[in-house]
Amino acid sequence: MIQLIELKEQFLSVKHEILKEIEKVLESGQYVLGPKVDELEKKIAKKLGTLDAVSVANGTDALVLTLDAYGIGPGDEVITSPFTFFASAEAVSRVGATPVFVDVDQESYTLDPLKIEDKITPATKAIIPIHLFGQPADMDEIKKIAKKHQLIVIEDACQAFGATYKNQPVGSLGDAACFSFFPTKNLGTVGDGGIITTSDLNLASKLRNLRTHGTTQKYFHNSIGYNSRLDEIHAAILLVLLDKIDEWNEKRNDLAARYNKGLGTSNLLKLPKIKENRSHIFHLYCVGSTIREKMLQTLQNHDIHSGIYYPLCLHLQEVYSNLSYKKGDFPIAEDLSETLFALPMSPFLSEKDQDQVISILLNEVDNQDGC
Ligand SMILES: *Cc1c(COP(=O)(O)O)cnc(C)c1O
Repeated sequence: MIQLIELKEQFLSVKHEILKEIEKVLESGQYVLGPKVDELEKKIAKKLGTLDAVSVANGTDALVLTLDAYGIGPGDEVITSPFTFFASAEAVSRVGATPVFVDVDQESYTLDPLKIEDKITPATKAIIPIHLFGQPADMDEIKKIAKKHQLIVIEDACQAFGATYKNQPVGSLGDAACFSFFPTKNLGTVGDGGIITTSDLNLASKLRNLRTHGTTQKYFHNSIGYNSRLDEIHAAILLVLLDKIDEWNEKRNDLAARYNKGLGTSNLLKLPKIKENRSHIFHLYCVGSTIREKMLQTLQNHDIHSGIYYPLCLHLQEVYSNLSYKKGDFPIAEDLSETLFALPMSPFLSEKDQDQVISILLNEVDNQDGC
């Protein structure tokens, strides 16, 4: 069996270091928001080039707390993509604001800056671009629009730790950026976790207040907050993984290049493109095909795991039927939801397994050509 994301091998490769760190945490007597969390926040801020980083319980909370800290709520609108994981829009709804969708770019699958201004109203407060599958969005264009209309830019960087845009790491491009440490993300722990990076120190202090029940001093509350904290065990594990992330992101790129080379001969498959001036970390390697169902079936027959990201655009989700969008509103996002599928990708995918995936797909394509 070939996994879509090979997590077990990844953790086994650092098992001894991680077990040592877990033992130290157990012996320390400090389990939530302690010295390991501090160290992780400082190291991530330094690595990504922001003045601060505030960890929270997961990537969804990172978005929710950031929107809340910026005072975004009922009556406000936030522009985002209809082609992303649900949490990007759910966070907007969770604080009582309304997500406003804009179609994505044909090549990068990220928010199309040319379509944003049409959707800006006096109620618009922020834009959430998603660095989808690990590729940075068109940040300069998005930031220019945000500046002109005085909007906040919150990067949803949950899928893109270590990716760069014009040599700047994602996480340092917007007013704030949200990351997830869910196991399947390219920097993921063995449970839930998240972090917000920002150089807005006022925002950072509000986030620290919100994540611990609206306190600045224990048992004295000046706002209605959350219980959204990172555990020491996860911070200690993430510190071990942080030392590996650049090497692992490079490995993902090498594998992506091998896929491109191997599958490039087929014109029945649309391969991922990296736009100018940015680096991709291939959280997912997705290809497009008009015969997706057949491809998925063939892969399944050979015990190869694949996945559909994402089978239904957010504007067509049942929960958003009150927003009155309809099929056809965002043709590019809708087409992607009907044609894209993800192939096995992780730093621990072996070349032998990858070659098998490639030859099975090419074989299926040949069969199609023949009929
Ligand atoms: C995973 C993900 C999230 C949410 O992160 P969790 O840690 O699972 O809450 C948000 N946005 C995007 C784009 C994601 O991929």
